[in-house]
Amino acid sequence: MNAELEELYQQVILDHSRRPRNKGDIPGAIHVHGDNPSCGDEIDLSVQFGPEGVVEDVKFTGAGCAISQASASMMTLKLKGKPRAEAEAMLRDFHDLVTTEVADPPKQLGDLRLLAGVRKFPQRVKCAMLAWRAFEQALQGAREPVTTEEAGS
Ligand code: ZN
Repeated sequence: MNAELEELYQQVILDHSRRPRNKGDIPGAIHVHGDNPSCGDEIDLSVQFGPEGVVEDVKFTGAGCAISQASASMMTLKLKGKPRAEAEAMLRDFHDLVTTEVADPPKQLGDLRLLAGVRKFPQRVKCAMLAWRAFEQALQGAREPVTTEEAGS
């Protein structure tokens, strides 16, 4: 990747971490707290499922490194309005993206593809996956907190 592109990628990630989209709380929704102690990232995700499990609304609050907050912000943009099956597919695709060499990442991941570079840094994978682990938990309807420390990558 050339330096110019790399800078652009960083700008997108920094922009999301500084001005997170869908920041907030949804009263009465499923809440999952996630944390990544090795980096100090925390996230509180709320997910409102609609009829047939469609992701009606998703918001988060949190604090931590740019990767963890940008990943959460981009995730909410992508998941909002998605039918359950599509949201589950996106979770799998994103996990593959940050853990394995994917030659041609699925287009529907959009800007999330910018996070592919974290796969070279196992500690960063936990940052990038934090919000997604929380979402995975929300899909299961559980209210147990998640930690990417235990979940591994
Ligand atoms: Zn982090």
